[in-house]
Amino acid sequence: TERASASENGRKQEDPSNAPLIDDTSFKGLGLHTSLVSHVQEKMHYSHPTAVQRAAVPALISSNPQDLFIQAQTGSGKTLAYVLPIIHALMDSPETLTRESGLFAIIIAPTRELASQIYSVLESVVRCCHYIVPGIVIGGEKKKSEKARLRKGVNILVSTPGRLADHFDNTEALDLSAVRWVVLDEGDRLMELGFEETITKILSEVEEKSRVHLDSISGLPNRRVTVLCSATLKEGVEQLGKQSLSNAVHVKVDSRN
Ligand code: ADP
Ligand code: MG
Repeated sequence: TERASASENGRKQEDPSNAPLIDDTSFKGLGLHTSLVSHVQEKMHYSHPTAVQRAAVPALISSNPQDLFIQAQTGSGKTLAYVLPIIHALMDSPETLTRESGLFAIIIAPTRELASQIYSVLESVVRCCHYIVPGIVIGGEKKKSEKARLRKGVNILVSTPGRLADHFDNTEALDLSAVRWVVLDEGDRLMELGFEETITKILSEVEEKSRVHLDSISGLPNRRVTVLCSATLKEGVEQLGKQSLSNAVHVKVDSRN
């Protein structure tokens, strides 16, 4: 694991006192693995992190991450702000991690289209490390083939709330014991579309079933982390935050880059 170098320029956010100092002007300075950084720069052609990535990535890759509420406008790069830290952590154990190691992260988006967009970002990031298996269940295909995919094993799952809750109820092999990260993306739209209750149900199921403190895969946080993303505070997002986050850091970024 590499340590970030020390510099304070342009910090957008108060550090928890134990966080390492970082140089947030480059992906490397954020503390991400070198091979992930070169993948992002050379294969995905992103030269510098956006403001929301500069603020969120260090917070999420700290050894003891807190829940995070990310409020930043559409187009500010929120997807990579949570995808990169998840991949970074899973890259710590390439020899031991397989698709059967467990479902480590669940990313929830309000619509199939948004979930598909997130999945395609995820897919292009995991090309750096083929041992990490992403999956998506959003309906629109036979539930049977979704079930089969889940049974084969997926490390990071993108889903819509209704479909995910459905699999919780009906896919026996869906094992939640390893879940470290739950990301609620597009929080305002999740609320607007009336998913509050479904999300509460999903979160309590994860809470009940995850046994994160019992396994010790190096590099992974030893507690569950919930990330809520939203462009606005409309439609009761604050309430969704109260319900889903505990002791959260609020990252609010006004600029797009
Ligand atoms: P949001 O979820 O905040 O609306 P997205 O994650 O969808 O934003 O990203 C918006 C656009 O910005 C996408 O086209 C994405 O490819 C691009 N993008 C993301 N990160 C960077 C970056 N570091 N540099 C340049 N463009 C980026
Ligand atoms: Mg987004």
